Amino acid sequence: LCCAVLFSCSLLAIGKHSRYHADMTKTPFMLIIFLLCACSLVQAQPDPTPTLIVTPSATAANPVEIATRDLQPIDQVTPTEDTTCTADANRLAARHTVWAEIDYTAHTVSVRQLIDYLNQDTRPLSEIVLDIETNYWRDALLISEITMFENTLPFTIEGEQLSVSLPIPLNSGCNIRFEMTYTLTVPALAQGVDAYKGYFSHTQRQFNLGHWLASVAVRQDGEWVAHDTYFIGEQSVLDVADWDVTLTVNNATDTLKVAAPGNMTQLEENVWHFVHNHARDFTVSMSEEFSVNSLETLNGVSVELYSLPDAQFAADDGHIIDAAAHALSSAQRAMSMYEDLYGAFPHSRVVIVQGTFPDGMEFDGLVFVSSDWFRTFTGDPAAYLTLITVHEIAHQWWYARVGNDAAYHPYLDEALSVYSEYVFIEEYYPQLRQWWWDFRVNAYSPTGHVDSTIYQFATIREYINAVYLRGAQMFHQLRQDLGTEAFFDWLRVYPDAENGQIATPRTLWSLLTVEQLEITQATREEYLSISNVEEMP
Ligand SMILES: [Zn+2]
Repeated sequence: LCCAVLFSCSLLAIGKHSRYHADMTKTPFMLIIFLLCACSLVQAQPDPTPTLIVTPSATAANPVEIATRDLQPIDQVTPTEDTTCTADANRLAARHTVWAEIDYTAHTVSVRQLIDYLNQDTRPLSEIVLDIETNYWRDALLISEITMFENTLPFTIEGEQLSVSLPIPLNSGCNIRFEMTYTLTVPALAQGVDAYKGYFSHTQRQFNLGHWLASVAVRQDGEWVAHDTYFIGEQSVLDVADWDVTLTVNNATDTLKVAAPGNMTQLEENVWHFVHNHARDFTVSMSEEFSVNSLETLNGVSVELYSLPDAQFAADDGHIIDAAAHALSSAQRAMSMYEDLYGAFPHSRVVIVQGTFPDGMEFDGLVFVSSDWFRTFTGDPAAYLTLITVHEIAHQWWYARVGNDAAYHPYLDEALSVYSEYVFIEEYYPQLRQWWWDFRVNAYSPTGHVDSTIYQFATIREYINAVYLRGAQMFHQLRQDLGTEAFFDWLRVYPDAENGQIATPRTLWSLLTVEQLEITQATREEYLSISNVEEMP
């Protein structure tokens, strides 16, 4: 492994010099010789300096003529602006390989996280910025060290941003691999407004790890996107990444079940391995009381519900209310419907967890729906259990599939997810359409600009009213302006237009034709502070 990695480095050193760009396709044998030479040469270097790694595809893209080779020792590599470590265009910027050892009773997690990061920016990077949301909590995060080739890298933490200094700049198209080791002490579920962040908490019945791993911040316009922590909404802007996670859980009973997205393999009684590729996060929920039930969508996606025993209970008249069955079938119907409307779901499983904290929360491939909504379910579908379940499922498109800046443009995911609740009600419970508007929206007489940032609000209620509820009104009005067919055509092309980037309001609105922009102008003026598409961020 080491050899392969270092080989890449020496190739980088050579690849920069154009005189080595010669056809070697006819001499595979020579290439092997070269590989061996390069490796042994590199290995002979004492004290290897931390350096850049080129992705393996560089081998094919930068063939090297053996006869005139002039190998450069890697510690003489001086990356320059024009270095091209030919990157695999299809590869995601970040790959995470994680080994986590969990003490279920002590509520601690020891994490070893290997991060491969490819600089897809056009400029070299002298630092890597990571989102580390666990630092929101006092005493939750303890970083032991960050290393690269066994050299310690200096880092600073400010709020939820971790900046790691690189020993030499990482050139555009080049890859770096570094390793973080840290310990998490997961807090008990908080009271008050922080209870909504119970996706990183433990309770009597559940141990939740949401936003527990470091993720590399998004690059936009040559800058790291890093927002100030705020008690309203979400501040992380997350790129899709590849996740390979091995979990070892100690000090739990053998009834423990692990809810997590991706392809799951149980390696040992207490060891699980997950591969969750092309995802914005990797989230885990554990409980010794989980029951697991599943249904499939028409497209073969497995919809799995991890519920707690109180999801089934007796009503006053003695009949059994099965809130778990209702949540699961709502999730399955929503998945099928949104796949039809918004495009395919990219994973083979989606996991719904009955969460022991308020409300609900979306992650990529896994969502939480609060126990409160299960307990207050009466059998009548006109209930928060229905709405929050399908709302969190809608986030699989408006958050996971289409990324956006949840601090500055929260309506792009929240207004669309709220409106998706209505779309679901329309399809499955048309008699509840007016109930939905009255119960969910009109009761709050919402005001405010839909395109506000989270920082413009002093209370969660004002934020929800403006961004979520006025947002739903806006999308409904747009549907009336455009006609139902054109409206859903618009929402269907939006996920593809985003193309793995972080969508902005302009991404969404510029998909409308000139005529469509004209007929929706009045609606934009009514609901948005910036109605002119050209002026939108
Ligand atoms: Zn939401």
